[in-house]
Parts: sequence; C-alpha cells; structure tokens
Amino acid sequence: MEEKSSTIEPIIETFKSREKHMCVKRGALSLPECDTPGIPGTVTQRTCVFGGARIVLMPITDALHLVHGPIGCASCTWDIRGSKSSGSKLYKQGCSTDLKEKDIVFGGERKLYDSIIELHKLHDPGAIFVYATCVSGVIGDDIKSVAKQAEKITGCRVIPVQSEGFQDHNKTKGHWIGCDALIDNVIGTSDIEKTSPYDINIIGEFNVAGDLWGIEPLLEYLGLNIISTITGDSKIEDIAKAHHAKLDIVQCQKSSNYLAKKMKKKYGIPSLKVNFFGIQSTITSITEIVEFFDNEEMKERAIDLIENGVETLDAELKEYRDRLNGKTVALYVGGNKAWSLVNAFEELGMEVIMSGTKNGIKEDYENIRDVVKEGTLIVDDANSTELMRLLKKYKPNLLISGAKEKYIALKLGVAFCDFNHDRISAFAGFRGFLEFAKEVDAAVSTPVWNVVGDKLNDKIMKESKNNNVFRKDKKKIKIRRR
Ligand code: SF4
Repeated sequence: MEEKSSTIEPIIETFKSREKHMCVKRGALSLPECDTPGIPGTVTQRTCVFGGARIVLMPITDALHLVHGPIGCASCTWDIRGSKSSGSKLYKQGCSTDLKEKDIVFGGERKLYDSIIELHKLHDPGAIFVYATCVSGVIGDDIKSVAKQAEKITGCRVIPVQSEGFQDHNKTKGHWIGCDALIDNVIGTSDIEKTSPYDINIIGEFNVAGDLWGIEPLLEYLGLNIISTITGDSKIEDIAKAHHAKLDIVQCQKSSNYLAKKMKKKYGIPSLKVNFFGIQSTITSITEIVEFFDNEEMKERAIDLIENGVETLDAELKEYRDRLNGKTVALYVGGNKAWSLVNAFEELGMEVIMSGTKNGIKEDYENIRDVVKEGTLIVDDANSTELMRLLKKYKPNLLISGAKEKYIALKLGVAFCDFNHDRISAFAGFRGFLEFAKEVDAAVSTPVWNVVGDKLNDKIMKESKNNNVFRKDKKKIKIRRR
C-alpha cells in the first residue's frame, strides 16, 4: 500500500508483522496495512472464499445450496446468516455431498450428480447452487459440466459456484464469485409482463433480522416498484427479472457494488449507494433516490415520509440518548458496517473510538478513515488476543461485533451488541433506529456492569500478565534444524 500509518509506538503488544495492521487516525494518510494473507501463528478469524460466496447467495429463499466437499465446509457455514424469509424456508436446509477418502481418490462427480437429482426429487427447488470447495477443487471435479447435465435431466436451474476456499486470503473474492453466479446464470433469464419507469432492485440487503422489511415500505410509499431484492427474502424467478430495473440501490457496498457495476456494464442499469442505518443516512438515501427519479409527486411523498418518520422519533429517543450520551463504542464488524454505522452512533450521542474489520480492503479503510474522528483507532484483522488487549487498553463502553467476539467482550466487562449475522432485531429505517437505540441502551445501561465491571477487569489483567503468550513464545520457541 502506498499510504501507511505514521504510528511509531506499537498500539498493543503483538507480533511485529501485525503492528502495521493497526493505526490511529491522524490526518488523511491514516490507513492500516490490510488485505494481506493471514500471518501463520496469529490465528486470524477470517472466513474463506467459499464462505464469502455462500453468504451472498444463502438468503435466496427458494433455492437449495449444495456444498460439494467434506462435511465440515457445509456445517461451518450452515444457516450462516440470520436472514428472514416471508415465504419458502428451503434455504435453511444444509446440503453437502460429504466427500470421503474414496471420493478423493476416484473423484466426486458421480456423487455430486446423484445428490442433485435426489435433492430435486425431494424438494423441487427454484434452483440448486453447487459450491466448489478446496477439496473438490484440488481433485479437479468439473462442477460446471455436472451442473449442466443435471439441469438437462431435472429442468431445474443448477448453478455452479466456483468458490474453492483456497483461491484468496480474503472472502471478498467469494462475494464477487457469488455475484458472478447470479449475473452469469440468473439475471436476465426471465421477463416481466409490465414494466414501469420506477422499477428498482435492492442489492446487498440480506434481510438479517428482517432489515429489508424496514426498508421496503419506505420505497413503496415513494411509488417505487421493487422487482427484486438481491438477495434477502428473494426468489430465484424475481432475481431472473432484475435486468428490467431502472435503478439498482446498493445497501451493502462491500459485497454488492461489484454486482451493481456488472449490471451497469451488461444492462446499462445505474446504481446508487444507500445506507438505511441511522436517521440522517436514511434521510439522505431517500433524498438521493428521489432526486434520481426527479418526479414532483415522489418529492412530495418523500417530504411526508421524512417528516412522519422523524416526527415522534426525537421524543422516543430522548431517554436512550440521555443514558448513552458520551459513552464510547468500538466497532469490529463487516467492511461496510465499519464505516456506515459511525454516524448512527453519533446520533445517539455516543463516540466511536475504534473501528475495524476482518476482511477489509483498502477502499473499506478509506471509508472508515473518512468518517471517524481524529484519534480513532483503525484495526485490520485483529485476532482474539489482540482484540482483548485493545478492549483493555481503550476500555469502550460497548463492543459491536459478531458471535465470535461476544464472550471476549463480556468477560472483560464490556457491553456487547451483535450487529452481525446472528442478531435478532431489525435496525434499518426510522423505526429500526429506535430498536437499535433500545438494544444499545439495554446492553450499555444494564446495572450488571456497576457490579462486576472493575473487579472483572482487574482479575483478567492479572491473569493476562501471567499468561502473556508473546513473552512465553520468545523464551520457548526454538528453531529445529534437520
Ligand atoms: S472451502 Fe476450504 S477453506 Fe473453506 S471451509 Fe472448506 S476446506 Fe475450509
């Protein structure tokens, strides 16, 4: 990277090669080292390329997702997202070809073919996505030709996803592969009977905890016709019609900008980046969509929508803001949320003192740098030990992250909110923001922190001193020569 952190003192004690992956924002050049392979021994918490592809495609509700590999690949990504469905629950099935030693020796193509035929007979799905994993990639199974043959026999869409986990150190590549599977095999394959000038697609919204259901009513009130949602609460036939849209609005820009760009190239559909987390972000998103369509009636409706949306919100938020004002928060989330949530916390009166992500690329860290205040810590791919040290040093009142980080925070006496795939409350739109405030307040203001906070911290500090892996390693590690 040409722009590097100017930090001289390491932020926390860690491996030398990891020090550059953390920096404190001091001016426009503050960027951590990022998008590099995990360093052996640092126990990165990243997902693989296959996981990245599956996470994009999994919310398609009437599709089956068949993982062609050993059972572990499927089990560690089964029901990977808390994406809700208003219809079919087929996507919740976990399917694997369960490759064994014999298949590795003699090939797994026959097993894959038989699995597709059997799944089609059992469930008659809208489509079957077939994912390549490391093992099927190494033995050279040709999932494309098997998918083609099975499609001919079943008449069902069988879509190969060339997502071998070893392709890259960053799951972002998997997001792109998932998007490619849609653009190459699904989008543009069905027509709609009637088009309107206000047809849109919502891209990069995965309906985690029902977020999509907070966004759709806002857009429908404006008079927009949503052709497809890619991929939250979607059906394969709707995605097939997505090429008729006049505009793509993109919520998760990390996973889905790629798809928007491809749709622009292939079908000439323009796109708008939106963010429905937070009051001002929701207002800005609505305003920009309306400006794009430049329709007077829609403008009137937007004014109505925004006025009604925020009218009672200030009063309802007051008690939460009173308690949360001045409290500090650390974000360790996906690349998109690591910057798009910053304003939402500021609207609650909170201060973001750290923002980081596991799979960030340079663009993600530039976005983070541009929205956070001077002095904010920016972190790339922190492992559990590093995260623990950062929480102990910076002592935020709240950590926003996913299930893997939950107990690190709680054991340190730091309040925790899940803003990842496992959360159960929808936070998008105006009403979603109120839910967000309630959940953050419940986590931060619970009296339990007054009882256990300091004692817990002291105990862990002591244990950590006695248990310093980096010091121990220096003494213990000897290089064996043969
Ligand atoms: S695809 Fe490869 S890296 Fe990913 S879970 Fe399977 S074996 Fe592991």
